[in-house]
Amino acid sequence: KKAKSGNERYLYYSAEMNASIAVRLQLEHDLRTAVSARQFLLYYQPRVDLISGRIVSAEALIRWQHPGRGMVPPVQFIPLAEESGLILPIGAWVIDAVCAQQADWRRRQIKIVPVAINLSAMQVKKHQVLTTIVDALRNNGLEREYVEFELTESVLMDNPEEAAINLRAFKKIGGALALDDFGTGYSSLAYLKRFEFDIVKIDRAFVTEITRSREDAAIATAVIAMAHSLNMRVVAEGVETEAQLRYLRKLRCDEIQGYFFSPPVPALAFEEMLRTDRRLPLAREASGGADTVL
Ligand code: C2E
Ligand code: MG
Ligand code: MG
Ligand code: MG
Repeated sequence: KKAKSGNERYLYYSAEMNASIAVRLQLEHDLRTAVSARQFLLYYQPRVDLISGRIVSAEALIRWQHPGRGMVPPVQFIPLAEESGLILPIGAWVIDAVCAQQADWRRRQIKIVPVAINLSAMQVKKHQVLTTIVDALRNNGLEREYVEFELTESVLMDNPEEAAINLRAFKKIGGALALDDFGTGYSSLAYLKRFEFDIVKIDRAFVTEITRSREDAAIATAVIAMAHSLNMRVVAEGVETEAQLRYLRKLRCDEIQGYFFSPPVPALAFEEMLRTDRRLPLAREASGGADTVL
């Protein structure tokens, strides 16, 4: 395509854009067959309690093993799946896969923890997902506490009244409800309280610089205080360093998730953590609280 002004950068940009549109179209095409071709798998990332140091939950994170492109990260295909509606069958696969995995762990008597499932706005709007969850739990003989749900503010945006009703339905059929990526949207926690979230996950964006940025530290402090006053637990996302961990502990954050303890790992590796009861190093004993290295 010819640039009107003869601007080189425009030409370059345009060519790049066309390439990325072609890639997108190809990916969307491939996405259509990915569920039936069994190309998805789940990784699990532990969430760790800052007082006991123990794994209290895990987040299921989808991975796409593309036959030609290798592992495609969710940022590259979840938006496509949402735009095309493919998130409905993909999301249903995630729910089934989590429940089948939990049933397998239970059958083999591994001490298991609830698994959190990420839900897109479109899934929450369709009541079909409720049936999928109820059926998946029942078919695998699981109680509802085995699954938790993570939702972002986008779920509440276009129709808060309807969202409130939907979320109440999720609370009836599953375990805890978490508000994901908090701080990246525009809502206040006080406003969000009426949606009955049990957990607030502070977005990684505020955790990364928490020991260096006064602003980020102030935001985390305020979120934790407010969440606690509203009876919600707080999870910090993307904790990568011991310094961040210490800081969050000082702020009385309840749980952390991040590379410092573990990245998302395949089911077998997560199972090994459960089996060995892996804990945060240096965590204060829940009982005594005598030694607080962290
Ligand atoms: P999310 O739900 O906020 O998940 C947390 C993301 O942060 C994950 O990225 C995880 O790998 C990453 N992460 C965790 N700890 C650290 C850390 O210490 N440092 C850094 N740099 N990153 C960390 P991932 O797995 O690439 O997933 C990205 C997003 O894709 C998720 O964000 C979620 O919004 C979406 N997603 C993943 N799986 C599903 C799914 O099954 N369904 C839906 N609807 N969305 C999903
Ligand atoms: Mg999440
Ligand atoms: Mg998140
Ligand atoms: Mg996210």
